[in-house]
Amino acid sequence: MAQNKPLGQLLQEAGFINEEQIQVALDAQKASPMYFGEILEDLDFVTSAEIAQAIAMQNNLQYIDLNKIIPSQEALKLIPFDIAKNKTILPISLDDGVLTVATADINDVVLLDYLQSISKTKIRYVVDDKKSIAKHIELFYYQLKNPIEAEVQQLVKDTLNNKEIDIAHLVDLFLNNAIKDRATDIHITPEHSASHVFYRIDGVLHHYYSLPKKLHKQMIARVKIVSSLNISDQRIPQDGSFSYTFLNEEFDLRVSTLPTNYGENIVMRLLGKTASLYNLLSLGITEQNSKKIEKYFLKPYGVVLVTGPTGSGKTTTLYSALRKINSLHKNVLTVEDPIEYKFTFIKQTQLNEKAGYTFDAAIRAFMRQDPDVILVGEIRDHTTAELAIRASITGHLVLSTLHTNDAISTIPRLADLDIPLYLIASGLLAVIAQRLVRKLCPSCKKEVIKSSSELKEMGMQDIVKEGKEYKIYEAAGCEHCYNTGYIGREAIIEILELDKELQSLITQGVSTFDLLNKARENGMKSMKEDGFLKILNGDTTFDEVNRVLD
Ligand SMILES: [Zn+2]
Repeated sequence: MAQNKPLGQLLQEAGFINEEQIQVALDAQKASPMYFGEILEDLDFVTSAEIAQAIAMQNNLQYIDLNKIIPSQEALKLIPFDIAKNKTILPISLDDGVLTVATADINDVVLLDYLQSISKTKIRYVVDDKKSIAKHIELFYYQLKNPIEAEVQQLVKDTLNNKEIDIAHLVDLFLNNAIKDRATDIHITPEHSASHVFYRIDGVLHHYYSLPKKLHKQMIARVKIVSSLNISDQRIPQDGSFSYTFLNEEFDLRVSTLPTNYGENIVMRLLGKTASLYNLLSLGITEQNSKKIEKYFLKPYGVVLVTGPTGSGKTTTLYSALRKINSLHKNVLTVEDPIEYKFTFIKQTQLNEKAGYTFDAAIRAFMRQDPDVILVGEIRDHTTAELAIRASITGHLVLSTLHTNDAISTIPRLADLDIPLYLIASGLLAVIAQRLVRKLCPSCKKEVIKSSSELKEMGMQDIVKEGKEYKIYEAAGCEHCYNTGYIGREAIIEILELDKELQSLITQGVSTFDLLNKARENGMKSMKEDGFLKILNGDTTFDEVNRVLD
């Protein structure tokens, strides 16, 4: 079925790489013999996900991101683990006698026949990259063989029957479950009669387990021991960390304790060892907005800021946009805290405030390194802000993040940091403000029909047409999304672009309100409007957009 074009050509046609990158990769292949795809990935020209996307596109198959899908138990049971592992395929779902299977090798016809015969179903292939499939096979079959929930319930029963239980194992189960369900934080919270375990998934807390109160102190003690905290002191907050290995992947956990009136509360933050690289489109940024953002990242000088609260995905957006900069022709230097992804051709440095390597010290050092592009992890004080803007007006592109609620608030925020208005106006090119909304689970989202007047009442008057009916969706819940109705997140954004007129208004010191009006006159769309478009597109819900913006 596949016409086998060379991978380089395929990726070039898909718009992921250019001719020059192909030539550099061919050159690099002479220095270190690897598969062409591996070289391209190694040089950060493409991600493994993009290779899978290009292959899917060429063969008219669906690309699937296994980070955003949970296979059904029913599907997993149709293909034994050993076969899945040997052939690097992952069954995902069974619908009307058709088994959807993720593979990286679509041309293996023998395998296809084999899978049809052992599963006694028709097979529909979807494409992901080999590494991702291999990792997820381990994760999801582990869950099939070791039902964590059942094991926790057994330990609870044993405790109530006054049996001694293995506390270390219980804590491990919570960690395994957190990793499996892609939680970012684990909370162990006491109240007067019980202890509760909560997970934060896609930005929202979920209650997972209630446990007998007598286990609370033991669980806290266990976590404190592995994080090298003082067990005997339960009256002061403490911070620690430990690392944990699950299915050959290593995780760092940052631990903090807080004494409450019911006992110590513990929060563990799960940090993966390696971040993934994305492109703007795969973050859910529309094509139009992606083009706008890319345009600013290709400017020779000026400041581009990504703003939003903690956890709104600012770094991911910066990294995705950074990939558009040709680091073969431009000297790109970064100072980060921490370095979340290691690029091949970019000079990245780690902030070290104790040693005096601060954001502003880094900018000063970079200026002597013949830079084209400077990425400063965060602007949070006057000196960094001023140095960043001065660097931009002396001919460098400066990228950074800032904590503000929306794009326009960047102007008063920088003014609050004592940056003169004329300097803001002459340095700042554009501000991208963003939030993350949860994506509706495609397997269970529930269709609802709304009239234009109903949508107007919900604030969508600028988008809907009078007298029309609209199909939107609500969250439900199924086994593909652990009953939350959502799986994964994507960005909603607004882009403030500073033209001559806006620059002059900033210098004149006009109010934020007037600046916003002018920007809207120029066509700026708000994050809310971007969110509304995603609702009409069936990607997310009103509840989500309101949750992150109100
Ligand atoms: Zn679902």
